[in-house]
Amino acid sequence: MLLRGLSRLVAARRSCWAAGRRPLGSGSQVICEQTLVAVKPDGVQRRLVGEIIQRFEKRGFQLVGLKLVQVPREVLSAHYHDLEEKTFYPALIDYMSSGPIVAMVWEGQDVVKVSRTMVGATSPTQALPGTIRGDLCVDISRNAVHASDSVEVAQKEIALWFHHSELVQWKCCAHSNIYNV
Ligand code: UDP
Ligand code: MG
Repeated sequence: MLLRGLSRLVAARRSCWAAGRRPLGSGSQVICEQTLVAVKPDGVQRRLVGEIIQRFEKRGFQLVGLKLVQVPREVLSAHYHDLEEKTFYPALIDYMSSGPIVAMVWEGQDVVKVSRTMVGATSPTQALPGTIRGDLCVDISRNAVHASDSVEVAQKEIALWFHHSELVQWKCCAHSNIYNV
């Protein structure tokens, strides 16, 4: 448990350096950890983009990348390469390439873990009320949003979906109200 916490911390600090940022905060507080969040085609079609962005903003995370994209199938194959053998994989790639996606990079303390909690279980029928999927979706194949599942995966996904120049470093004037810095 302790080891896992330590390796998360090291990975989070590494992700700051990878993003060209000095890790802010001390001890277990790494506030420049980043994750990829994407509103999937069903979420865009259902006009859920604003609601999903608002949840991350209100929580206190910082938006550092945002774009509306029609994602090429090669990018989606790389993104979901670990699911290649699953029966739902072809349908997943078809669906993810069926329309525009809003891709975002969010930054903040424990943003990877907290985002996954905010998004909820993969199957919306298992997702708790209060989570995005638990509040806004019903079917596993139309679960509105993606969020990276580990710090290491987040770094890979951000590099796959965004060019470094598309990420914006900006000073958040609310930092001292969100963190003890
Ligand atoms: N998926 C699906 N059917 C399944 C399992 C997953 O259509 O039985 C889709 C769903 O859109 C999910 C995505 O595949 O979000 C990626 O699956 P993963 O297990 O990585 O879930 P996630 O990390 O998105 O919760
Ligand atoms: Mg996943």
